[in-house]
Amino acid sequence: MPVLVIEHATLADGRSDVDVVVRDGQIGAIGPGEGALVRALGANDLTQWIDAQGQLLSAPFVDAHFHMDATLSYGLPRVNDSGTLLEGIQVWGELKPDLTMQALLDRGLAYCDWAVAQGLLAIRSHVDTSDPRLLAVRAMLELKKRVAPYIDLQLVAFPQDGVLRYNPRSSDPSCSHSALDLLIQALDLGVDVVGGIPHHERTSQAGADSVRMLCELAAERGLLVDMHCDESDDPMSRHIETLAAETVRLGLQGRVNASHATSMHSMDNYYVSKLMGLLRQARLSVVANPLINITLQGRHDTYPKRRGMTRVPELMAQGITVGFGHDCVMDPWYSFGAADMLEVAMMGLHVAQMTSQQGMQQCFAAVTQHAAQILHLPHYGLKVGHPADMVLLQARSVFEALRLRPQRLMVMRRGKVLAQSSPRISTLSLPDRPSTTRFFWPA
Ligand SMILES: [Zn+2]
Repeated sequence: MPVLVIEHATLADGRSDVDVVVRDGQIGAIGPGEGALVRALGANDLTQWIDAQGQLLSAPFVDAHFHMDATLSYGLPRVNDSGTLLEGIQVWGELKPDLTMQALLDRGLAYCDWAVAQGLLAIRSHVDTSDPRLLAVRAMLELKKRVAPYIDLQLVAFPQDGVLRYNPRSSDPSCSHSALDLLIQALDLGVDVVGGIPHHERTSQAGADSVRMLCELAAERGLLVDMHCDESDDPMSRHIETLAAETVRLGLQGRVNASHATSMHSMDNYYVSKLMGLLRQARLSVVANPLINITLQGRHDTYPKRRGMTRVPELMAQGITVGFGHDCVMDPWYSFGAADMLEVAMMGLHVAQMTSQQGMQQCFAAVTQHAAQILHLPHYGLKVGHPADMVLLQARSVFEALRLRPQRLMVMRRGKVLAQSSPRISTLSLPDRPSTTRFFWPA
């Protein structure tokens, strides 16, 4: 049977000169000298060899927070002129009546092409349920089916306009459903995770009520929870506290995630010291979205301007699982991006000042291992018996991968190569200097 051997790889945990043997789409062996063993025991014409040349072989990137239904809609029906969160929600509202199934699918598929090329093979995407037609939900479920051979797309039922605030009759006067009915319909259709947006409800009380209601729904159905929680600069936006308390009350520990949690940036330290204990008890995970948080938060500030990202290193120090998400790419909220989770990790590292050796590793884990934990992905990581899902990067360490956001030389899933890129090499014509550079140092 055909065997593939990737030789001389460096792993994210720092191990070097490691060989990975792939059989039947799974990792059959991993460690130094495994390639030599295959040679000695019976390599044949069918055996394929890839020399990693000491470069980084990682488990695939995982995006813990994305909006696939809005992606690549930049400029439709108009650009977000102020670049603010609220104008983004407004632009999305203007686009919604004109959305078509085909356009949503086309944009989603195009984004997934980028994702695969970048080694991003698992994405948790929130999908807007504030629409009597549930058009985006249907399109994303179809997309999930289409990309299943190459991307794990996990969908969150996300009531963008507030599960208590949104009245479906404002979109369609003949609609007899409530916003909660629509969210439940989305789950019935096959959406995986219960979402929410408590800080966007009319009052703090309504926000807390929505958290309670949605957590109960998740508990009844045995589903995971991932809410947009306190995406605000208001230190009094404390829905994460209710989310943690409801998690414990309903026995959902380890199954609930708070996305954004930006208000924690502005909370006072005394309150946060109490909150951390609640989060630990609930085994709540947190997802920060560095690119979006740094651009959308702090907009009412003059100077000093808050960064508006949640307290990433402090949460990690408490043993709380923190992942990073891309959140948006070329949509009403964010004009940039190319499905590169290393760009996300790099921004997170800068905003949170995680420049220590441990901090760099943690930022890389936030877009790989930690994000996989938050999605409850089974069999993630380079281990014997796991599916052969991996990415070979043109970098020799995690540090270099963060520094260079390098080419993904090879992207593999279930032992099959899905994407390849040529290494980045610039040719030089300089007196008494080398003829090429790959931006490595030492070269
Ligand atoms: Zn989001």
